[in-house]
Parts: sequence; structure tokens; C-alpha cells
Amino acid sequence: MKDESGIRYCNECGNELQPDETFCPQCGAYYREEDEAKWEEKTQTAPPGDATPSLVMAGVMLWAWASLSLFEGTMALVMPDYLVSAAQSVVSDPTTLGYASWDAYQQALEVSGLVYLISGVLAAASGTLSVLRRYWLPAVVLCVASAVVVLALLYFGDFSSILLALCGCSVAYMLYSQNFCFRE
Ligand SMILES: [Zn+2]
Repeated sequence: MKDESGIRYCNECGNELQPDETFCPQCGAYYREEDEAKWEEKTQTAPPGDATPSLVMAGVMLWAWASLSLFEGTMALVMPDYLVSAAQSVVSDPTTLGYASWDAYQQALEVSGLVYLISGVLAAASGTLSVLRRYWLPAVVLCVASAVVVLALLYFGDFSSILLALCGCSVAYMLYSQNFCFRE
């Protein structure tokens, strides 16, 4: 290896070599110029770090949330009638659920279904980027967006959505702190 000022160092032990030395006086290794090029190439294309347990954990949580909310959202949007009749078989009066009518209940079901669907798509996108370890900042932003969207359920008095949003934000923080694992 050679530094900027042209001083040569032993490839094996790093000992400084005199200009006329072809063998290292310390370890006896032969000084090879071709190693220099290889060494420079290696340091220039340093690979990104491997996936850390935190990153794997964040990815698993994102995919778990994505599949759960995509399922829930699709159910509410594709077969709201079925969910309403299921609720009707348990309670006879919609006001016990906090809705003026069964129509209002179905509407709330459909809107929250849409919220779940949007959150699920955002989480799936963030989860994919985490698995690929590409585009760190978009992955973090998508994760935060997925968490914030859930807060829309507060409109229906669903306070557990605060807890979900906090969980989502902590996953976003996990991604944020693992930026060294991402390629770009
Ligand atoms: Zn040496």
C-alpha cells in the first residue's frame, strides 16, 4: 500500500518501507504493487452493514401490521353487509355500539376499512424497502405515514388507534436508527 506522500507500507504487517526495500524487514513479506490497487478498490466499494436484529424486527412488525390491516380493510370494503349482519346478530340496537342507525354503522365500517387499507399499503411499502435495505428515508417516512393515518379512527372514538400509532412510530424510530444497514 502507498499513502498520498508516496510512502510504501508492507501489505502484511503495515510496517513503513524504505524506498529501496522490496521485502519487509519486519515480517519478510514481499511488497506487491498489485495489492495496492486491490486494497483501494476494496475501501472504495465498502459494502453496507448486514441486517441487524432491530431491522429484522422492524420488518417483521411492518409486515404483520400490513397483512392484518389489509385483511381488515378488504373485509370491511368488500363485505360490509356481512359484518353488519354479524353485529346485528349480537346486538339488536345500533345505539349500544354508539351509532344512530345501522346505516351509520356500515358507513363507519367502510371508512375505517379504507383507513386500514391505506395504512396497510404504506406499511407494506415500508416493509419491502426495509427487507431490500434500500431508500432508508422513504422507508422511515412511509412507516410514519402508515402510523399517522390510523389516527383518523379517532373520529369514530377508537382510542386504541393512539396505541397503534405509537407502536408504528416506534417501528419508524427503529428504522431511523438503523440507517447504516441501508445501501442508499
Ligand atoms: Zn511486514
